[in-house]
Amino acid sequence: MGELSAAMARVPADEVDREIELWLGRISQALDLDRSAIYERDSAGQPVRVTHTWRRPDFPAFPRNFDPVKFFQVTVDWVMAGNPITFSRPTEIPPKLEDARRFVERWGPKASAVIPMWGGGRVIGAASFGKFRSARQWPPELLDHLALSVRLFGSAIERKQSEMAIRAVRTELRVASRRNVMSELVASLSHEINQPLGAILSNLGGVARLLSQGNPQPAMALEAVNSAIDDTKRTAEIVRRIRSMFKHHAEHKTALGIGTLIDEVVKLTTGEAALRKIALQVEVSPAAQRVIGDSIQLQQCVLNLVMNAFDAIAEANSARRAVIVKVAPEKTGWVGVSVSDSGAGIAPAVASRLFEPFVTTKKDGMGLGLLVTRSIVEGHGGRLWATPNPDQGTTFTFTLPVADRKRVGASRRA
Ligand code: ADP
Repeated sequence: MGELSAAMARVPADEVDREIELWLGRISQALDLDRSAIYERDSAGQPVRVTHTWRRPDFPAFPRNFDPVKFFQVTVDWVMAGNPITFSRPTEIPPKLEDARRFVERWGPKASAVIPMWGGGRVIGAASFGKFRSARQWPPELLDHLALSVRLFGSAIERKQSEMAIRAVRTELRVASRRNVMSELVASLSHEINQPLGAILSNLGGVARLLSQGNPQPAMALEAVNSAIDDTKRTAEIVRRIRSMFKHHAEHKTALGIGTLIDEVVKLTTGEAALRKIALQVEVSPAAQRVIGDSIQLQQCVLNLVMNAFDAIAEANSARRAVIVKVAPEKTGWVGVSVSDSGAGIAPAVASRLFEPFVTTKKDGMGLGLLVTRSIVEGHGGRLWATPNPDQGTTFTFTLPVADRKRVGASRRA
């Protein structure tokens, strides 16, 4: 029991099912049983699914899609209401569970313990431990232990389900927020541009009508053309404004500690790293190194690269799950920030187009992250590139100008 409870407490969500099946087998073997199973049901009225099974080698498997409700509805309701059933021989099955008794007399087992499984304060299913070769006694102490085991299974399943639900919500949120930003942007852009375009069209349409009537009125035509010119300028101004929104202005740039900047990003991603079982390692040397840049934009760069690294590891389902963020001096006056992952490397299909817009291999990808990152880095005078790691995965590196370079240069000259 001690080992089982330790195993159920520490097993990661992804491996809960495998671990439960393993323990179902261990328990059944220790008790010399023939076939055991765990059933789950999402809610009343839903079918009951066989989710975990163990059987003695050479013992017949469960029929596919076995739904106990079809064979013994009354008994299923009884167990799902939280009542256990144990019998040492079929005649011990309570008369009110007539449907189970009929089934057991025909198909077995000769002895069984069926225990409701609780999870998150409700019965989420049941476990059955069956002996088919002979009758069997179920001493109270053994039943207590079985009940405790099933409770541990139930809470592990409950933990797995809530973790999966959180993961699904997080992914949805991330995708939704990206989509929202994009669709907002596109909507306001088309609204702003369509309006002057409409005016230009109607003015030029007017001029065309005047000319086609063979009776041009120069003053009117000129007015319409001038108005179209104004609107064209307005449209160009809107486009310029939108572009400058995404340009990186020197005025936000200050000298900032690269170590602090990386720490901020690490704080933002530790939750995600834990959820994805990835070790995030930081190596900053020297930690006090200062660079010139826009803190928010540079955080965005590191964040993009780290999230891509996480995705690469998750996608490859790598056994080694480590991301290393490193800061190290580059050529004189520059510092390099690199993010290495242990993923499967860059897909050959996109390798030559990584920094182009909308190039993605991900189901929910936008294919903008690397483009934005590179444009920010270049706005700071640096470069961004990717290299395959010698063993596994990829390293993305970008360079930034060091803040104290003039002083360093001066002291060297001195
Ligand atoms: P997105 O992440 O939305 O796909 P990005 O521009 O950030 O957009 O990345 C473009 C593509 O580059 C990704 O879809 C992926 O195929 C590839 N890529 C980026 N980072 C990595 C990485 N660390 N390892 C492997 N492939 C990567």
